[in-house]
Amino acid sequence: MIPLFEHFPTLAEKLAYVSLGNFPTPAPRLERLGGELGIDRLYVKQDSLSARVYGGNKIRKLEFLVGKALQQHAGEILTFGYAGSNHALATAVCAEQVGLRGISMLLPQPNAHYVRRNLLMGLHCRAELHQRANVATLAAETVQQLLGHKLTTGTFPLIVPPGGSSPVGTIGYVNAAFELKEQILAGELPAPDRIYVALGSLGTAAGLVLGLKAAGLATRVVPVAIVHPSMAGKASLLRLARRTNALLRKLDPSFPSVELAGNEVEIRYEFFGHRYAGFTEEGMAAVSRMYDGEGIKLDGTYTGKTLAALMRDAGDARITGETVLFWNTYNGRDLSAVTDTIDYRKLPACFHRYFEEDVQSLDTSA
Ligand SMILES: *Cc1c(COP(=O)(O)O)cnc(C)c1O
Repeated sequence: MIPLFEHFPTLAEKLAYVSLGNFPTPAPRLERLGGELGIDRLYVKQDSLSARVYGGNKIRKLEFLVGKALQQHAGEILTFGYAGSNHALATAVCAEQVGLRGISMLLPQPNAHYVRRNLLMGLHCRAELHQRANVATLAAETVQQLLGHKLTTGTFPLIVPPGGSSPVGTIGYVNAAFELKEQILAGELPAPDRIYVALGSLGTAAGLVLGLKAAGLATRVVPVAIVHPSMAGKASLLRLARRTNALLRKLDPSFPSVELAGNEVEIRYEFFGHRYAGFTEEGMAAVSRMYDGEGIKLDGTYTGKTLAALMRDAGDARITGETVLFWNTYNGRDLSAVTDTIDYRKLPACFHRYFEEDVQSLDTSA
């Protein structure tokens, strides 16, 4: 039984849910990196290990989203992302696990090794991959796909928004906060003063902000924007948290009504760089620091930029003496056993350029 359902049994009856991962994820202390940074109590929440085949933060959301697809008897799940989208891949992997199929509507992005890996893994999981030129034509192309799939399969695919960040998906991170509370009560780690987490489509941070308060924890969430600031506003984050709160209360009125004040969340915008998935010097320095100190692999698009924020705050002595939790949202499973065996020319031709062109210069990790 997941922690949220233990606290609110009515939700267990009302919410579609399918177990897709391994929870709780570990939350060990980072002794060496913490020592170097002058943060005695530095911990990591390893959502990187959230599932056996492909981990990362999207699994928690997909347990509710795929649950909904099964409940609605959809045969396919259509979602959106950039070419190397961790979310689109996680959706395809999870869909396949329960006998469904993922359809990915993908936009162009800067090239990187992980883009190649994720595309090949998507192919391996039978995902239908479509490259779309830009956001302007995406809606029309999506409608076309939906109608086409309805004609051939008889049912519409379930549509999942980018990043899985609907209120239903966001519940995954409300549950994660209750999971963390259980680990604190079990003495695995002290209650954190701050959680550093990457901010993309908002669901992870919004779910944590709501869930921590509902679980009675005073932890401050520090979301680090890795998308353009115009897409990661505080008002949008709080709106998603409130909509998720309203959904939970509609299903179970005993779920608390949480007051969310804007000054409790400080979104960081200084680590984004120039564009989405454009790696930064500071972000890649953080990736190396984590790997050298703790043997944990981070990425240049999300978690490296997030750790860079934590490291800069440590350098400015802003968080010394605090208990700090770094929420690792990046997949930690090695895909090479599968991806090394696949010829990229089996992908739709529009994706070949990611294999034929160089990766961006800061992407040194293979
Ligand atoms: C999607 C993603 C995020 C961002 O989570 P959101 O809920 O979209 O804000 C962070 N880290 C990684 C590795 C991701 O793939």
